[in-house]
Amino acid sequence: FSSSLPLSFGDSDSIETEGSREEVVPKLFPAPLSISPLLLEKLVYDALVWSSLNGLVVGDKSVKKSGTIPGVGMVHAPFSLLPSALRESYWKQACDLTPVFNELVDRVSLDGEFLQDSLSRTKKVDAFTSRLLDIHSKMMEINKKEVIRLGLHRSDYMVDAETDLLLQIELNTISSSFPGLSCLVSNLHRYLLNQHGKELGLDSNSVPGNAAVRQFAEALAKAWTEYDNERAVVMFVVQPEERNMYDQHWLSFLLKEIHSVNTIRKTLSEIDAEGELLPDGSLAIGGQIVAVVYFRAGYSPNDYPSESEWDARLMIEQSTTIKCPSISYHLVGTKKIQQELAKPMVLERFLEAEDVAKLRKCFAGLWSLDDSEITKHAIERPELFVLKPQREGGGNNIYGDDLKEMLLKLQLEKIEEQAAYILMQRIFPASSLSYLIREGISHENQAISELGIYGAYLRNNDKVIMNEQCGYLMRTKVSSSNEGGVAAGFAVLDSIYLT
Ligand code: ADP
Ligand code: MG
Ligand code: MG
Repeated sequence: FSSSLPLSFGDSDSIETEGSREEVVPKLFPAPLSISPLLLEKLVYDALVWSSLNGLVVGDKSVKKSGTIPGVGMVHAPFSLLPSALRESYWKQACDLTPVFNELVDRVSLDGEFLQDSLSRTKKVDAFTSRLLDIHSKMMEINKKEVIRLGLHRSDYMVDAETDLLLQIELNTISSSFPGLSCLVSNLHRYLLNQHGKELGLDSNSVPGNAAVRQFAEALAKAWTEYDNERAVVMFVVQPEERNMYDQHWLSFLLKEIHSVNTIRKTLSEIDAEGELLPDGSLAIGGQIVAVVYFRAGYSPNDYPSESEWDARLMIEQSTTIKCPSISYHLVGTKKIQQELAKPMVLERFLEAEDVAKLRKCFAGLWSLDDSEITKHAIERPELFVLKPQREGGGNNIYGDDLKEMLLKLQLEKIEEQAAYILMQRIFPASSLSYLIREGISHENQAISELGIYGAYLRNNDKVIMNEQCGYLMRTKVSSSNEGGVAAGFAVLDSIYLT
């Protein structure tokens, strides 16, 4: 099933595959859940009906207009039939970390010099990061201050089986996707366990409630209120074609339904064409004032095919609109900054000792490539590392032999280009038997999971209006490698069963 619509493990809206570059070392869990074929068939059928009735859907790749016209060519989002087990202590730990990461992002975002310095070498070799930094330095030059700051983040974790540690994969500060669909998967699992829990020996109360989409809508609405213009709208920045549009529509629907806030959807190129900066600094699109800009595009070089998109990004940044995220928040979420923050004595610049200790506990090994000791080790044992460029959206990381070759190449020919990457300790979660449902078909596989915790942060000057954990996203992907040693890996949406 490697050829059709898999779900990315990335943080963007992409529902493309993470790629076949990952080779995965499977670790078997002792007791797989056994389900009779009859019950399995019933569960799958009920789950597919539930998904269709409740909007757990994405655009169907095989239908032409499914990425542009809502209601055309929908297919259920890939999901795991049953929730995946997670020890309650990890769940609590991850929830507990959320307000601290929210606060950290805000504080680091205010240190423009730190961002520029940390990324200065990366800037020379990575054109995309360089463009983002150019906007950032322009804002520094004019001394632009973001008084109202909104972050809708998602911090992702895996549990390392060998050390029993919950370790952070990354922190997404732009375009954190699936707040809408993840809530639905939790509801789907609760429904299935309410119907069939006895036969399965599972209790629906062990699936934590998931209010990510409500809380994100609330954060956007509160930001809109702070902007204090009754007639202003929230603008979703979107890609021209988006098969994950229903996840986004859930958010705009609740904004309207619960908070009576209007949203508009625009691409960066439309914003360039229709937008203007008014004399008072506000941003208007076709005459409508924009209170909040919420990016669900703009995280990848592909979102900027021409200068027009960059012009739009700059115009947004120059305006008084509340940006989710601002260019500073965006940069704080880069892999390079993650690695810089993991260096000794850096977190201490931004947080109190108690919070520093909490965060450090979930940091995996992170290194820059000018660390020759570690680079040498990674060339000898590439399977223990992940090589990451400054990209978002999944499918960009380098593993195994490719990692080794890339490091050798960078060492011999392209020393400068080392700054485009970071090295990270490879995390190996325990795998367990899962039923991954895609296009109506159940695939039984050993699978591993990644836990994402959403966080919302809203601040107006000195006043923190919101700093909360907002629900979760579990994603599960196949962990077995086929004979060729190349994983047929794809990810599905999942929820949590607390143990
Ligand atoms: P992106 O911003 O593109 O989502 P990530 O850092 O999340 O980048 O990497 C993408 C995927 O690669 C993750 O969802 C995870 O499946 C895998 N991955 C990333 N880092 C590690 C790691 N240190 N150990 C194991 N798997 C990893
Ligand atoms: Mg990711
Ligand atoms: Mg990411």
